[in-house]
Amino acid sequence: MKEIFRTVNQYLILCLLFNITTIGRKLLGSFLGKDEGLVIHVEKQIAKWSEDINELIEIAKFEPQLPYAAYIFGTSKRWQFLCRTTPGIGSLLKPLEDLIDEKLIPALVGEYNYTQHMRGVFALPARLGGLGLLIPHKEAQFEYENSLIMTKQLTRAIVNQQDSFVEDKVKQAEAAKEITKRKAAKYEADLAEATVGFPADLVKMLDLAKEKGASCWLTSLPLKSCGFRLSKQQWFDAITMRYNLKPNDFPVFCACGKENSINHCLTCKKGGFVHLRHDAVRDSFAEIMRSVGKDVKTEPHLLPVTGEPLPAGTNIKDGARADVSALSIWTPLCKAFFDIRVFNPLASTNWEMDIVDMYKHHEDAKKKEYNNRILQVEKGTFTPLIFSCTGGAGRESGKLMKHLASLISDKKQQPYSQVVNIIRRRIRFDILRSCNFSLRGFRGKSNFVSLEDLEYNLCPDQN
Ligand SMILES: [Zn+2]
Repeated sequence: MKEIFRTVNQYLILCLLFNITTIGRKLLGSFLGKDEGLVIHVEKQIAKWSEDINELIEIAKFEPQLPYAAYIFGTSKRWQFLCRTTPGIGSLLKPLEDLIDEKLIPALVGEYNYTQHMRGVFALPARLGGLGLLIPHKEAQFEYENSLIMTKQLTRAIVNQQDSFVEDKVKQAEAAKEITKRKAAKYEADLAEATVGFPADLVKMLDLAKEKGASCWLTSLPLKSCGFRLSKQQWFDAITMRYNLKPNDFPVFCACGKENSINHCLTCKKGGFVHLRHDAVRDSFAEIMRSVGKDVKTEPHLLPVTGEPLPAGTNIKDGARADVSALSIWTPLCKAFFDIRVFNPLASTNWEMDIVDMYKHHEDAKKKEYNNRILQVEKGTFTPLIFSCTGGAGRESGKLMKHLASLISDKKQQPYSQVVNIIRRRIRFDILRSCNFSLRGFRGKSNFVSLEDLEYNLCPDQN
């Protein structure tokens, strides 16, 4: 502690003795001195950050996902650090916000996805439906106050010139809790402010984006080895779909003849993309289960029903199949069956329901079809795995992901939090990528007359 105090003292003494500066100087990441010196210091910092941001804008022309991650995890932390260490710089950061607003965001999210009224939403954290692209001059004071709370113990130790510093962990945990509370209150207020006058549909899209796991594609490092890399079109389309905006370069009509929209693309059976989405999730779960279960099968046939009394609505067809079966998932040597559905929340039948009810409705439908048959005939267990195209998961899917993470964590001696994180991301990217194919995939040609049937004489002879 004394060391830091001494450094500050020495610096001030040197300044006094040798008149090194009359306006102040950068010290320990902050600035000590007069207001005019602070203004120059912040301007210089902004010039440096702007250079980095301009480079990110250049990269965004080819790879928008990479500079987004670089900005969120790197560049933005630099201006946030200055905010935490230096009071009263909010208004000085306005030129930085201008650069972010006018150039960086359009480059990162696609110009057609960005309008001014979305700025407040994009500034929210990803878990609250935003993109984490904070507004510097609005964050500065808040960051500084949080920093004061977190460093209270350390500050006192420096002022008192303590020889050593032993952190009171209980007090520090309380400080962290206070900051979490402050952040929750601030972001709730920001969300309310940002969505004033928003149509109900867009507010519902934000609610869907706020679901657990729905935004993890934004907070994932774009690692190719994990399958977390997206092309520029996939990235821009993912943002378009997140807020149900108008896709760029989008045909007016689908190949099936109907009017095109994100909703239609996610539902249209032509092209097989609905199956692709389902199969991607099925195969990922099967692969994950293979690392902890036995006898994992995809599309296993169910034993035939031979007169067992089953309630109405049960699927009693011969040849009926579940999506995945595996031994020793829930209970040792007990067979567990799983059936998957990735529903489109934009479809009118789903859209009319509350979000919680959407999942419950599909879980109940699956249970009605399979639960009793599997319990009575197979003597196994049945779990419906329901996901939304926007990335949210049903209650039972959430439970299974946690349970699998716990089994893998025990087996591989890896931290549970990291395992569950990877499982959620893996499933989320499966859904994201397959929804992307639904939007851009080839569905066959539109209703043109084939060349064979074409009447070449386009102006038939009137005689
Ligand atoms: Zn169609």
